[in-house]
Amino acid sequence: MNLTSNEPFWLLKNGIINSYPSVSKNISTDIVVIGAGITGSLAAHQCINDGYKVVIIDKREVANGSTSASTCMLQYEIDVPLNRLIEKIGEDGAVTSYKACSKAIDDLEKLNIKIKSGSGFKKKDSLYLVNYEKDLQEMQAEFETRKKFGFDVKWLDNQQLIKQYKLSGFKGGILSKQAASFDSFRFTHDLLAYNLKRGLKIYDKTAILKRINYGGKIHFKTVDGFTVTTNKVIYCVGFEATELIDDNFVNILNTYAIAGEQNVINKELNNTLVWDSSKPYHYMRTTDDNRLLVGGEDEKYSTPDKKLSLLGKKTKALVKYANNSILNLNIKPDFAWCGSFGETKDGLPYIGTHKKFPNSFFVLGFGGNGITFSVSGMEMISAWLKGEEHQLQKFFKFGR
Ligand SMILES: Cc1cc2nc3c(=O)[nH]c(=O)nc-3n(C[C@H](O)[C@H](O)[C@H](O)COP(=O)(O)OP(=O)(O)OC[C@H]3O[C@@H](n4cnc5c(N)ncnc54)[C@H](O)[C@@H]3O)c2cc1C
Repeated sequence: MNLTSNEPFWLLKNGIINSYPSVSKNISTDIVVIGAGITGSLAAHQCINDGYKVVIIDKREVANGSTSASTCMLQYEIDVPLNRLIEKIGEDGAVTSYKACSKAIDDLEKLNIKIKSGSGFKKKDSLYLVNYEKDLQEMQAEFETRKKFGFDVKWLDNQQLIKQYKLSGFKGGILSKQAASFDSFRFTHDLLAYNLKRGLKIYDKTAILKRINYGGKIHFKTVDGFTVTTNKVIYCVGFEATELIDDNFVNILNTYAIAGEQNVINKELNNTLVWDSSKPYHYMRTTDDNRLLVGGEDEKYSTPDKKLSLLGKKTKALVKYANNSILNLNIKPDFAWCGSFGETKDGLPYIGTHKKFPNSFFVLGFGGNGITFSVSGMEMISAWLKGEEHQLQKFFKFGR
């Protein structure tokens, strides 16, 4: 599967931060983490914290999957609004999932400080905009529900949106006090480098040919003919999980993003992430080098060629959206890229064990909250390794 176009913004901004060797001898360990994106780096960090010998393997360069293409908005708000999620899975599951995402933002901030990452992590507000009059009532009900369950929210009408944010054409919006943004590519590199010093073994450009379960252990044969033997595996393989698991659990989409020229943004958005209620939705945020990132225009997943061929058209659509939404903006895109994005039936991730994979755990953070879900995955991994239940387990499990 092709996860990104050639030029995601963060890859160009940061360049190659660190490169690691491929597997070139037989290895034995306690835990293998497959996939060295943000999810795998968090999983490996957790396992090192819990005292295990850990090896992380990626078939690409590390952090070169979706992690390099992400717009890295951290929100407690799941793609499915709280009211709808309550209807789908009940109050306990919906509120627990929303609260877990909120906590994940704080957990990630603490970790970012601890490892002294240069990811530009910044706490922000989040503004959920209403595009159409017909959605106003539902969004006001959503606002009331969030307030009822203790989320720090404020309702803004269209005049307040214009005055405070120069956002025009929207009918109203929910302002939330809990959100953040950062650079997940840089953070992943920093976290891997931090744990390399704590004993983590990191291998990139290592493709796995097959998995053999034998003698209570798992043996991975690499394409280069070496064997990696382990007691447990944590799969953090992102959207390519669909190549491993044949259940119909996620709908893969193509998504598009642009980064505008520097210093032409409206400063009102420096502390606020913005997304809207259109389907598929659009979103915007600023970067620490003063660019406006704009994303959306999702399409059904198609071949890499088709995905790329649409880049010009999608870039124009994102430019138009931003210029129509922000007063006096004339955004000029410096960078445009596309990536893969996963949508699940309830907006929740798949994190847990799978009956076809013994001694294995999957952390597949899909949707607009992929990264916050990956952070919640750390606690869930820790519970699994200890043989304990986790409160999110029943809401994120396969076959739910
Ligand atoms: C344009 C765009 C915007 C986004 N915006 C946001 C956002 O604002 N907020 C948010 O939370 N999320 C966002 N996401 C989603 C977010 O980027 C993902 O949830 C996150 O990056 C997933 O990280 P990951 O480590 O699970 O996957 P990846 O970064 O894809 O890492 C998986 C790794 O596994 C490796 N791998 C796969 N299969 C194998 C195998 N068999 N053997 C060895 N290695 C393997 C891959 O090479 C890859 O490096 C966005 C995504 C895109 C594309």
